[in-house]
Amino acid sequence: VSDAPSTLWCELAWLGGDRPVAGVVIELDGARIAAVATGVALPPAGAAQLGGLTLPGLANAHSHCFQRALRGRTEAPARGSFWTWRSEMYALAERMDEARYEALARATFAEMALAGITLVGEFDYLHHSAATVRAAAAAGVRLTLIDACYLEGGLARFRDASVEHWCARMQQLERSGPLGGERVRPAAAIHSLRAVTPPDAARVAAFAAERDWPLHAHVSEQVRENAEVLERYGATPTALLAAAGALSARFTAVHATHMSSADLALMAAAEAYCCMCPTTERDLADGIGPVAGRLTLGSDSQSIIDPFEEARAVELDHRLATGTRGSFGAAQLAGALTVDGYASLGWSEGGTITVGALADLSTVSLGGVALAGTAADHALESVIFAGGATDVSDVFVGGRRVVRDGAHVSIDVAAELADAVTRAWS
Ligand SMILES: [Zn+2]
Repeated sequence: VSDAPSTLWCELAWLGGDRPVAGVVIELDGARIAAVATGVALPPAGAAQLGGLTLPGLANAHSHCFQRALRGRTEAPARGSFWTWRSEMYALAERMDEARYEALARATFAEMALAGITLVGEFDYLHHSAATVRAAAAAGVRLTLIDACYLEGGLARFRDASVEHWCARMQQLERSGPLGGERVRPAAAIHSLRAVTPPDAARVAAFAAERDWPLHAHVSEQVRENAEVLERYGATPTALLAAAGALSARFTAVHATHMSSADLALMAAAEAYCCMCPTTERDLADGIGPVAGRLTLGSDSQSIIDPFEEARAVELDHRLATGTRGSFGAAQLAGALTVDGYASLGWSEGGTITVGALADLSTVSLGGVALAGTAADHALESVIFAGGATDVSDVFVGGRRVVRDGAHVSIDVAAELADAVTRAWS
C-alpha cells in the first residue's frame, strides 16, 4: 500500500454544500488534486480506499504548541482566572530550551495530525523558529509560522528590543531562515495591545502588508485587557488596530470575545477573520464571544486537541448564551475548519476538494461507537456534532499519507508526548 497513492476512492466526501457526496474518486498529481469524480460506486483498481467521510484537511488556525505540557496541571479548584493560569504558563515557558521545546512541538504536532489537522498556525513568541519548522516537518503537517512581535510585559524571552529589531529578525528569517520549504509559510503577529503600542502595531501591519503575509493578533480576550487598553489609549483594541492599518482581509483577530458593536462593524467592514478557540476560552473562563467576521478555529492552549469539539462548541455555546438553536450549521463550521482556516493562514489554494487544490485530506471513520448508525445524508452533521479526534482514520498532507488507520505513519505519538511532557517539567 503506497504512502503517496495516485488515486483515492472515498465512500463519502464533503465537497462543500450541505450534504456529502457518495463514491468520490480523487486523482492526485503529486501534492495537488488533479481530478475529482463523483458517483463512483466501486473503488477503481489500485485506488486507496477511504471508508467513512473524507473532508479537506483541517486547519488549526491558532496554536501555542508548548502549552500541551500544561494539560491537566491547571485545573485545581482554586477560584483562578486567565491571569492565574498565565502565571503557570509563564513557568512552563521559562523552561523551554530548544531541546525540550522541539520534542514537545514534534509530539504535539503529531497529536494534531492524528486529530485530522493538516495545517497548523503556530503563534510563536518563544522564537524557536528552526525547531518549530523541524517539528512540523517531522510530524508531517503543513505550517504557518506566525512570529509574534512582543515588546512590553511578559517574560524577557518573549520580547524583541524594539519593533525595528522584530523587523530585522523577520528579514533574517526571510533571507536565510527555515521558511523556504514548500510546506512552510510565514505570517506576522502583533501579540496584543497589551504587548505592542499602536505606533509599533502600525509598523508590524505595514511590514506584513508589504509582503502580503497574514497578520494575527490576540484581541479582546479579557475584560481587564479591554479596560487597560481603554484607560491607556482611550479606545478599544479593535479600534486601535483599525487605526494602525492592521484590519484587512489578511487579518485574524484571535478570540474577539469581548468586542463592542462598533468593533464588530470594523471587523465586518475589513472582511477580517475571527479565530475562536472555544475549548481554551471555556478552560480559561474568558467568556463566549460573538463571531466577529469570518470564522476560523484554533486549539490555542491545547487543553484538548479536537477540531470537531472546537467547531461544535461555537454553536453549542451560542445556544447556551442565547437560548436559540441552529445559528451555525455543520457546513458553515466545516468551512471554518477547512477553507477559511487555510485562507486565514495564507494557503488560499487549500482546504477544498477541488481540482488544483492542495492534496490535504482528513477521513473520519463512521465505524466507531460514537458515529455508528450515521446516515450518509447526515454524515456531516454527525461528524461535526458527535465526532471526535479519535474517529479520524486517515490523513494526507500534500498527497503523502501521515495517518493510517488511526496511527501516525512514523511517530509513536503517545510515547513521544509522555516523554516530552515529562522532560518539559524535569
Ligand atoms: Zn493565543
